Amino acid sequence: MNPIIQGKADFKSAKDPNMNEDCQYSSITKGGRGTVFSSSWSSMGLILNFLLLILCLIPSSLSQVKEFVSIDCGGTSNYTDPNTRLEWVSDSVNHEPRETSKSRKPKRRPATTLYLDATKWATVTVQDASRVYVKEMIIRAPSNSIDVCLCCATTGSPFISTLELRPLNLSMYATDYEDGFYLKVAARVNFGAASKEAVRYPDDPYDRIWGSDLEKRPNYLVGEAPGTERINTTKTINVNTREYPPVKVMQTAVVGTEGLISYRLNLEDFPANARAFAYFAEIENLRSNETRKFKMVEPYIPDYSNAVVNIAENANGSYTLYEPSYMNITLDFVLTFSFKKTTDSNRGPLLNAIEISKYVEIGSKTSEQDVNVLNALRSMSAENVRTSEGDPCVPAPWEWVTCSSNIPPRITKIMLSGKNVQGEIPSELKNMDALTELWLDGNSLTGPIPDMSRLINLKIVHLENNKLSGPLPSYLGRLPNLQELYVQNNTLSGQIPSALLAGNVTFNYKGNHGLSPNSKHKAHYKMILGISIGILAFLSFFLLGSMLLLRYLRVQSSYQKTDGKSDSIRISTKPSSSYSIARGGHLMDEGVAIFIPISEIEEATNNFSKKIGKGSFGPVYYGRLKDGKEVAVKIMADLTSHGTKQFVTEVALLSRIHHRNLVPLMGYCEEANQRMLVYEYMHNGTLRDHIHESGTHKHLDWQARLHIAEDAAKGLEYLHTGCNPSIIHRDVKTSNILLDVHMRAKVSDFGLSRQAEEDLTHISSVARGTVGYLDPEYYANQQLTEKSDVYSFGVVLLELISGRKPVSLEDYGPEWNIVHWARSLIRKGDLISIIDPKLTDGAKIESVWRVAEVAIQCVEKHGFSRPRMQEIITAIQDAIKIEEGNEKLSCGSSKGQSARRTLLTSFLDIESPDLSSGCLHPSAR
Ligand code: ATP
Repeated sequence: MNPIIQGKADFKSAKDPNMNEDCQYSSITKGGRGTVFSSSWSSMGLILNFLLLILCLIPSSLSQVKEFVSIDCGGTSNYTDPNTRLEWVSDSVNHEPRETSKSRKPKRRPATTLYLDATKWATVTVQDASRVYVKEMIIRAPSNSIDVCLCCATTGSPFISTLELRPLNLSMYATDYEDGFYLKVAARVNFGAASKEAVRYPDDPYDRIWGSDLEKRPNYLVGEAPGTERINTTKTINVNTREYPPVKVMQTAVVGTEGLISYRLNLEDFPANARAFAYFAEIENLRSNETRKFKMVEPYIPDYSNAVVNIAENANGSYTLYEPSYMNITLDFVLTFSFKKTTDSNRGPLLNAIEISKYVEIGSKTSEQDVNVLNALRSMSAENVRTSEGDPCVPAPWEWVTCSSNIPPRITKIMLSGKNVQGEIPSELKNMDALTELWLDGNSLTGPIPDMSRLINLKIVHLENNKLSGPLPSYLGRLPNLQELYVQNNTLSGQIPSALLAGNVTFNYKGNHGLSPNSKHKAHYKMILGISIGILAFLSFFLLGSMLLLRYLRVQSSYQKTDGKSDSIRISTKPSSSYSIARGGHLMDEGVAIFIPISEIEEATNNFSKKIGKGSFGPVYYGRLKDGKEVAVKIMADLTSHGTKQFVTEVALLSRIHHRNLVPLMGYCEEANQRMLVYEYMHNGTLRDHIHESGTHKHLDWQARLHIAEDAAKGLEYLHTGCNPSIIHRDVKTSNILLDVHMRAKVSDFGLSRQAEEDLTHISSVARGTVGYLDPEYYANQQLTEKSDVYSFGVVLLELISGRKPVSLEDYGPEWNIVHWARSLIRKGDLISIIDPKLTDGAKIESVWRVAEVAIQCVEKHGFSRPRMQEIITAIQDAIKIEEGNEKLSCGSSKGQSARRTLLTSFLDIESPDLSSGCLHPSAR
């Protein structure tokens, strides 16, 4: 995993009058401002923060922290802050002299947009000249350096005062979504603060800014409930949780002496999805007969109000931190939150701090293959190319390129005419396949014209007035969209490709004394082309004729053989008696599968005598091939409803896919009107039978269920990420999870699979799947993604936990489906009511919780809120570790629990009856 980055920039005054032109960049690296410094950065945790300051810089602290990067933008020299001992570097070394705050006061309210690489970070509007404006982002380092850009000012000139980069511990602020989203800090409040000053380094070793609740801002922390009092302690607090908030912040709090704490604040750039933390530490000495229990009151989301907080109990003692969190919660612009005392509590609620961060989608940077070429060209231009930094397209394109609006953006035009570019044209140019125009004329380019044969979008190429040598490549005559080609006044030599002389392309090659059109060559070329076309045409006719003849003979043979067979299965025979490898043809376009003649299948299945199942595809028969391999033969009964397409899909897909957790396709048969698929036989049938059917099926204890879940998840994960393009199963359910002789699970039935189209995040098609497992989002809008499989797999996990079927009026009443039923019970913390009564063999509650937690995430309403298969595998593996006793979170380890829990589960645990021992002893239901 890459580390997390936090950087800071302080804005205090207008600095650079040029800044509003395009984009003013700073590249931040460990080495400091403006330069990319390759180091052991990738193994470190970082945070990225911006501060906007108007009057003053951020205060006090003691000693230098080596990993901090603190840039004083516009400062004239480097210095050490005498109070904090932090070292500040000036960014002026590589820049023109700048205006300072003293020399230039903003006349209007400056409004600027801030970018972090290609991600829009914030719009900064300075409303109040006496206020410090701070923008803070928590990110996982995308590479060795990041670019910060101020641009697109609507009023005034963009300005920045400081830019600060702070390392974080790797596990801090880790989210399930960090591949796709940064965390932008919207509120970090220290309640009960001693003064209006923010708490920072060295009180917080990570130098986060804990704003004081005394700081007054419009619509910020208003509507305080009557009876709210401030308390503090000098005793130390155990803050050993994942986010390590500073002790100083935890030593102060507000309490609701009249039973209620309530605040209202505006959240910039909301509504949005956010990660929200609350920090609670009991800092009053409660008497033995006193309790402090409270609930969060959130009228719009009633489920959040169910959990009861009992800080001392949750944190395992007083003066110890409890930090529940919501990992993904949708919040409005106006956030009103309250904590209310429960009726059986005699002390009011208490709150030490909160932290709310918005998920900001990471923007796409320009395609790397294009950026590499641009950087190479830039380094070849001695003086004239403007030294732009950052991404070439986002937020504003460099002045010498044109970009497409694709995601990621591509370069469509390079304009470097007369820019004193020296050296050979970079060979990587061949990868810029979105390029339509190339202007490199009037430079000092040397060497040959590189390979551009794959740049099929090229329309205009200007290479004239350089020192290019070597031949004019023949592919230039074959570029399908080429309209203009200028190579005059170089030292090119050899023959001109005849296609360039045909008149379709505006072509200028004057001044290249070694270049010549060759008429003989032209004639020769035409002759070769004519002969080749002739040979190709002959071969095509020959092949087509042979195939038709073969097909005719096969059909004849099959009709002879079917005479006298039963009506139910009309079968034909192929003359061959052994398996053959079929390649090519309409079935095998995408791979290789074994063709098994019908005679072999008849023999293997003893004339289809043992039926082992029936699905929507048709009946399934048991068989044993000549080499002793046991097989399941699926017969496609109804050709009209399923059509050739589904059959073709299965064969083509399965013949390409091999994974230990996917049921292997061993062969196929397609003769006359008969189609069959031959799979490896799975001795222990389907997971569905084991969970829902009593009788001869082996009982599955919790550990066995976990291993099955892990196997099946790995199979699906392979389909999603191991195949290119990825494959969406579309019909994940317990009857499509089969168990082999060792009770290891494999996913089967790709009859409904579809390949995810390249370049698309979803496929649009008619909703298909099985009732009870069907993703409601997919059903509603027909947009299929991997997350639809995740939803269905969540239902499978709930079945494994509960032993109940996905839909049942009898089991779930009017809710009728397992998702609603399980979700409402889990939210109430009532896991015990969900667990399969058959699991009486001591499954550990922590382990079941881990799976229940991820199952509920899987069945989230929106796909983007659901985890990926890899995350589900991790959760299941965590549960297995807990079961096996290797995991610290095993029975009774409440400290470990608080470190990893989300608010949901942490809250829920309080009401969960069996947590005292940490082990599950289900009660009778
Ligand atoms: P649907 O077609 O609606 O998805 P399904 O998945 O149950 O339902 P099939 O995949 O055709 O349908 O399987 C029908 C039954 O055949 C299964 O329930 C199972 O009992 C049995 N079966 C299928 N494949 C195998 C196999 N490889 N080994 C053993 N039994 C199998």
